[in-house]
Amino acid sequence: MIRKLEDKIVDRIIRCITADGAVMAAAIDSTYMVATAQQIHNTSPTATAALGRLLTGASVMGSMLKKTGATITLKINGGGPAGTLVAIADGNGNCRGYMDHPQEDVPLKPNGKLDVGALVGADGLLGVIRDYGEGEPHMGQVRLRSGEIAEDLTGYYAESEQIPTVFALGVLVDKTDSTKVLAGGLLLQVLPGALPEDYEKLEKNVETLPPITSMLAGGMTIEEICQKAFAGFDMEILDEYQVGYVCPCSRERVEAALLTLPQEELLGLASEETGTAEVCCQYCGKKYTLSQADLLEISKKRKK
Ligand SMILES: [Zn+2]
Repeated sequence: MIRKLEDKIVDRIIRCITADGAVMAAAIDSTYMVATAQQIHNTSPTATAALGRLLTGASVMGSMLKKTGATITLKINGGGPAGTLVAIADGNGNCRGYMDHPQEDVPLKPNGKLDVGALVGADGLLGVIRDYGEGEPHMGQVRLRSGEIAEDLTGYYAESEQIPTVFALGVLVDKTDSTKVLAGGLLLQVLPGALPEDYEKLEKNVETLPPITSMLAGGMTIEEICQKAFAGFDMEILDEYQVGYVCPCSRERVEAALLTLPQEELLGLASEETGTAEVCCQYCGKKYTLSQADLLEISKKRKK
């Protein structure tokens, strides 16, 4: 059931709403996205779960921006061995990310589960930046609740946006082959105008809903997962997105980033042996080679 990277599947997000407009759901199967992140960053099992949950959450939140060119950035620093984790999704839910210490790992919880909270830490902040590509980006920040990520994002919606939300995120990592993963997420939001009985019905459904990875591992589609969450409601599918681990880096972007370095540091990037500098994209690992002449050219632009 747990898929390998070579399977080359394309991940999907669907958004649904109850026919009375009371509750919205978004469900994602992010298995390929998380497997790709595992391979790029060579993450430890717990780091795969931590970064995977953040990527999955960012992807769902990105798809809700409903605007091409918009991005959402989630940044977590809980003071744990993982360091800072960052995920950026575009308005179509395509996502990329990195973490400071992807090879760090921590012991399993007593129940045998990956201890994401211990790796991330809970003493710190979750930052959410929505950039619509025009005007000032919208920034929100809340204290972490547990470092388990789904709980922290739920807390963000409650505190910063006052939207009653249930956010479930799950990543399963194979015990014998840590490149094999299964990942997904489910977001439920109660919309303005919902009646007390809608809350009641939804709460009952949420209480009996199995973990998202159990449902995916059992072969349920994201449509079936939404139907289960919406038991007792009539459901409409609003839209569907195909998503993946996508990095929009380019030579131009790398050069633009280098413009921010101090002159000396910029010119000192080139190795004495080869006379060239190799700059690696922190999101996808792609390498860009710059000659001494390239670096001089950039430094000239910087002076202007
Ligand atoms: Zn890149």
